[in-house]
Amino acid sequence: MLGRQSPAPNPDTLTPPASIKSVRAGSTLRLTVSFMLVVVVAFLAVESWRTWRDYRAAFASARDSVTNLTRATAQHAEDTIRQMDVLTAALAERVEGDGLQNIDVPRIHSLLVQQSKIMPQLHGLFIYGADGQWIVTDKEVTPETANNADRDYFQYHRTHEDRHVRIGDVVQSRSTHDLIIPVSRRLNNPDGSFAGVLLGTVKVSYFVDYYGDFRIDDKGALVLARRDGTILVRRPFIASVIGKSLAGSEIFKTYLPTSNEGIAQVKAVVDDTERLYGYRALTTYPLVVEAGLSRESIIAPWQQDLLKNGLVLVFLILVLSGFGLVVLQQLRQRIAMEREIREAHQTLRDMALTDSLTGLGNRRRLDNALEDQLRLARRQGCALSLIMLDVDYFKRYNDQYGHAAGDDCLSVVGQTLQQAVKRPGDLAVRYGGEEFTVLLPNTDRAGAIQVGEAILQAIRALKLQHAGHPLGYVTASAGIATRHPVDEQVSAATLLKSADACLYQAKQQGRNRWCAEDTSAPSDP
Ligand code: GH3
Ligand code: MG
Ligand code: MG
Repeated sequence: MLGRQSPAPNPDTLTPPASIKSVRAGSTLRLTVSFMLVVVVAFLAVESWRTWRDYRAAFASARDSVTNLTRATAQHAEDTIRQMDVLTAALAERVEGDGLQNIDVPRIHSLLVQQSKIMPQLHGLFIYGADGQWIVTDKEVTPETANNADRDYFQYHRTHEDRHVRIGDVVQSRSTHDLIIPVSRRLNNPDGSFAGVLLGTVKVSYFVDYYGDFRIDDKGALVLARRDGTILVRRPFIASVIGKSLAGSEIFKTYLPTSNEGIAQVKAVVDDTERLYGYRALTTYPLVVEAGLSRESIIAPWQQDLLKNGLVLVFLILVLSGFGLVVLQQLRQRIAMEREIREAHQTLRDMALTDSLTGLGNRRRLDNALEDQLRLARRQGCALSLIMLDVDYFKRYNDQYGHAAGDDCLSVVGQTLQQAVKRPGDLAVRYGGEEFTVLLPNTDRAGAIQVGEAILQAIRALKLQHAGHPLGYVTASAGIATRHPVDEQVSAATLLKSADACLYQAKQQGRNRWCAEDTSAPSDP
């Protein structure tokens, strides 16, 4: 039995296989696509991050703006009311000192006129008696019949003993029809009973003018309200909004109860506009100011930027994709071209190593394989056998049947040979003319004899007619040489020479047989 070791390599696979190259080409393609994707993703990531940063920056700047606006309007409201507070306190002190019945009306009148000239916010100063009658004002004419007992602030002071100024709801002046904010204070008799009311009125227009000076967007809002939510002044100024309550708004409901000042992004109850509001409740007076910038105006520049950058980004990605597609296309073409060249090389190589008549390998192929197998056998310490085969009386065959028939015969013999060698490492070649060689790696003498005999038998079994042959059909003779390259000096030439010598011997001994080296008894048919 022939021992089987690891199969010997096919000589054709000793050069780098084409599959490795196509794997390399495929990975280059994948690498290029991946690189382009990474570039596009990097672009998108950087742009997204920049956009997010700009968005935050827009809001950060808006927060600063509303905070500053809130502080400015709060300070303004506080200063305005404080001046009224101080003025009315001084006047009340004086009027109460004199006693309301004893006051010097012309003197107090001129005092009031003088004060109202100094203070731009002041619409008027009024002193009412306990019954609501006008006693003295800063106006030139005091109507005899004028009575303010029905006013909200009057009724409040008549029934409340506190001595603080009270900021009332906006009302329309009876004297000038202007919208005014009443700032009033109770006047007492020496015994503490109700003596009347001292009223200073602040022009709503004073606030409207002040608020109008700020540069905010059309949808921005500035609001002055009482702590209970009643609107006193608002920019944009709409008369119908004055007096409305903000008590139900989110700032009054949610934010102010927990903090006197802050920032909130909410939807306005007055006009349903979403704004970023700064709010502040004054600590000295029950007033609240709100300054809001519309969300729309905050993000509009950012949106425009986003659109511009987005277009540039899309353009860049399109250019990059176009460029990438061209590169990919060229890469594909190059890969296809390389594959074609490789295949052509392979075909040429195959052709150069193949015998065209039989389809077997040719002598060059054997030369290559023999060198490789000798090296392998030497390294692995195994035997290497070679069978040299020659068709018997072939000249006669040609002479009898013609050269073309001779070719056909050689082709059939070649196929038979190919079928007879079974192991992947075995190699059958046409050595030249009507001679064939079978290389049997890792095969000892007995194995080689077995294969040689099997081949000869297979040729005999073809029973190809051969009138010039003593047996009447085609046969062949074989010379078999076996070597152990690890133990002895062996070259391709000596192996071939030995096999050839054996073949010669087989011919000499009568043909249609094999002859193996060092064998005293050649086989009989
Ligand atoms: P032997 O039994 O001693 O081998 O005798 P032989 O006639 O086969 O040997 P010989 O060397 O005298 O003749 C070989 C012949 O093979 C000569 C040639 O006409 C023929 N031959 C060689 N190559 C080819 C080929 O490619 N095609 C054909 N048809 N004949 C070939
Ligand atoms: Mg010959
Ligand atoms: Mg011959």
